[in-house]
Amino acid sequence: MFSFRHNNLLWYILIMKREIFNYFDIAGKLTMAKKDERSFLLASIAVRKDGAIVSATNAASKFPNRQLHSEYKVSKKCDVGSIVYVCRVRLLDGTFGMARPCRSCMKCLISRGVKKVYYTIDQNEFGVINLDTMQERKYQ
Ligand SMILES: [Zn+2]
Repeated sequence: MFSFRHNNLLWYILIMKREIFNYFDIAGKLTMAKKDERSFLLASIAVRKDGAIVSATNAASKFPNRQLHSEYKVSKKCDVGSIVYVCRVRLLDGTFGMARPCRSCMKCLISRGVKKVYYTIDQNEFGVINLDTMQERKYQ
């Protein structure tokens, strides 16, 4: 038997996970809105400290260009204390893939004062990085 406290914690995690996957779903749908030459689809959503929700998708490019990353683009719209959700959608089957931000995007998010970044790993797994402490955790 779980103790009352433990039970509460489990509920909290369950609700939190549902909320996080809601944001990933919204981001995932954004990636589908664009029809272009991209080989993979990435979108970022930020819940700003002031309550506004902003988003960006990655752009098609023949050459690697960090300024086209959705995390970089969304970071420009963030305020201090924002929480960012990054979602990658596989073209093959529409499932979630690894969306951990690259070093360059991470620096941009930190310089904007973003508090946390959540990213999809696969359909049922996600990671979260606390940008104040750089502590990283993975949840299934
Ligand atoms: Zn990047």
